[in-house]
Amino acid sequence: MSSSTVPDPAALSPRLPSPVQELADDRFTRRGLRLLLKRDDLIHPELIGNKWRKLAPNLRAATGRTIVTFGGAYSNHLRATAAAGRLLGLRTVGVVRGHELAGRPLNPSLARCAADGMRLHFVDRTTYRRKAEPGTLAALLRAVGAEEAHVVPEGGSNALAVRGCRALGKELGDRADVVAVACGTGGTLAGLAAGLPPGRRALGIPVLKGGFLSADVQALQEQAFGARRGTWALDDRFHFGGYARTTPELDTFAEDFTRRHGVPVERLYVAKLLYGLVTLAGEGAFARGTTIAAVVTGRPFPEPS
Ligand SMILES: *Cc1c(COP(=O)(O)O)cnc(C)c1O
Repeated sequence: MSSSTVPDPAALSPRLPSPVQELADDRFTRRGLRLLLKRDDLIHPELIGNKWRKLAPNLRAATGRTIVTFGGAYSNHLRATAAAGRLLGLRTVGVVRGHELAGRPLNPSLARCAADGMRLHFVDRTTYRRKAEPGTLAALLRAVGAEEAHVVPEGGSNALAVRGCRALGKELGDRADVVAVACGTGGTLAGLAAGLPPGRRALGIPVLKGGFLSADVQALQEQAFGARRGTWALDDRFHFGGYARTTPELDTFAEDFTRRHGVPVERLYVAKLLYGLVTLAGEGAFARGTTIAAVVTGRPFPEPS
């Protein structure tokens, strides 16, 4: 494909830098804290939030080749990749965890991927776990007829993606002392922390259980930058049992947050982030005068009607 026809994500007119909004929330103000929302959910209607920041450099690197990537049955990353494929005219293949899903009607998230033209390839959990091993990956690419593909790892977090997320920290600059983000693979946190100016720190709230993420974030920074970068930490208390797990308390919290501030709260990640920040503020974890920015990395799916 000639360079003039290489799809350019800039043609999709992302809203960058994303808007910053200050909220008046008494759970913060009564402690002398300011709360900002970094509205990455408004970057693009379909390539939402951190998915834009991670995918855009990969879409460029694909130079028109098929994109093969990986995700679970409700993956925001798979939906964003499928949408990018439709909008930019790229073939996309989604390798989906769970062979048992193959014979069944697609859930709304996978149905959206398929409607956007993504080819779905279901694999059993053992194969999925080994997907990064060279032999397994080569067999998968052969099975989907895409040996020349640009391969993007699960959650979109490779070195290109992590470098892309530095812009999030740069856009915030000195506006916040602490920038908090929900973490899946940790790629967004790894880039954000590297992009913040000296003296500012990043706080990650993992939504998966397991306590392995600190090593992963460190490894992602080493891949992307050759060394650990910036000041960052994780608080592992707010996963609510693990990925996609919720409790009535978390649902009530998210509904109340939307009622207070008119901001739709995505449930897999953003609800846990905001819950964590309200809890930390209540515990006195932040000194008076601290400005906290919460990154709104996504929007609810399906959109509430
Ligand atoms: C994918 C996603 C994340 C996690 O990003 P990582 O870079 O994998 O940590 C956070 N929030 C939302 C809404 C997401 O879709």
